[in-house]
Order: sequence, then C-alpha cells, then structure tokens
Amino acid sequence: MAPYQNLEEYNIEITNEVKDRFAKIIDEIGEDVQRDGLQKTPERAAKAMLFLTQGYGQDAAEILRSAMFEEDYDDMVIIKDIEVYSLCEHHMLPFFGKAHVAYIPNGHIVGLSKIPRVVDVFARRLQVQERLTHDILECLNDTLKPKGVAVVIEAAHMCMMMRGVQKQNSVTTTSGFRGQFEKIETRNEFLKLISSDLS
Ligand SMILES: [Zn+2]
Repeated sequence: MAPYQNLEEYNIEITNEVKDRFAKIIDEIGEDVQRDGLQKTPERAAKAMLFLTQGYGQDAAEILRSAMFEEDYDDMVIIKDIEVYSLCEHHMLPFFGKAHVAYIPNGHIVGLSKIPRVVDVFARRLQVQERLTHDILECLNDTLKPKGVAVVIEAAHMCMMMRGVQKQNSVTTTSGFRGQFEKIETRNEFLKLISSDLS
C-alpha cells in the first residue's frame, strides 16, 4: 500500500461504475444528463468522490514511520490550524474546519509535514467528527509512542447548515487526550496555546 500518493490516476473501472451511478442520480432528481452543462458532470463527480475518499487506500502509520527521527526534545510540539475537509458518513456531505494536534516526544519526533498528511488520510473517508478525532489520536499514539498526544477538531457540518435544523453558525468541537495530556495542567497549557483559534 502506498503511504500517500495523490490520487490523480483513477482506476478506470471504478470511475466508470461511479460515473454511471451519478448519471442515474442526476436523472432521478429530474435533470437532463444530456444537456450541455451536465454532460461531463457524472465523470467529474465520480473523480471528485474518489479523490475525497482516497484515504481508504492510504496507510497513516506508514506515513509517520517514514519520517520518524531520534531526538531528545521532550517539550510539547503543537501543529495548529490544520485544514480538515471530510465527508459525513450519514449524508455524504462535507464537514470542514481545523485540527490542532500536539504531542510530547518520547525519544522520537516526526517530520512536521506528516501530521497534516495523517489528518488527510483519515479525513478522506466517510467519517463522523468524533471518530476522525479518535483515528488521528490513536494513530499518533500507537506509532510515535509519545509521552502524550492531544487532538482538537472544530468543524462546520454542511448537513446541519444546508438541511435539517439549518443551524448555520454552529461549530462542533471534538477532542481527545492521551498520556500526559490527561493531566489537567498539561491539557490546559495546550488548550491555552491553541485558544486564540477557538471561538
Ligand atoms: Zn451528516
């Protein structure tokens, strides 16, 4: 399994299957799939959907292992404001926002660019925000084996904003803490350091 290749090459069989189904959906909602603007839409929608779910074919732990270095540094490392784009598994509509990730090294650090990659691997699947938070947390904890790890995600859900309750300004915050972050002082220090971004 490739740790991360950007999915720009699409499996033709799968793309065609998904494309045919999108054409059927467009027809079922009362549109004319043959009209000018829509002719290529099933194919574009299929490729977009496969791009947005490419995380199933990627291995987040392998991404971390590819850039782990021995290092004595043992203060908190924080990566703030990681953009998150995911699809809710209940409606297959986007939810998006920011992730803040911190860890306290225990002999190993990881290349900083790998943390947003890990977020992407888990975000590019059908998700709920709670499990996305947990997936990132557990992957870092199991692979890097740090003294502590913390993940906070704040996201807006299109399924809430566009339909149903239409709560247009609500943001959902989820968080998870392991190891030293389970101690209230460490957790508070982390929350203070990211709080300028939390509403
Ligand atoms: Zn939803």
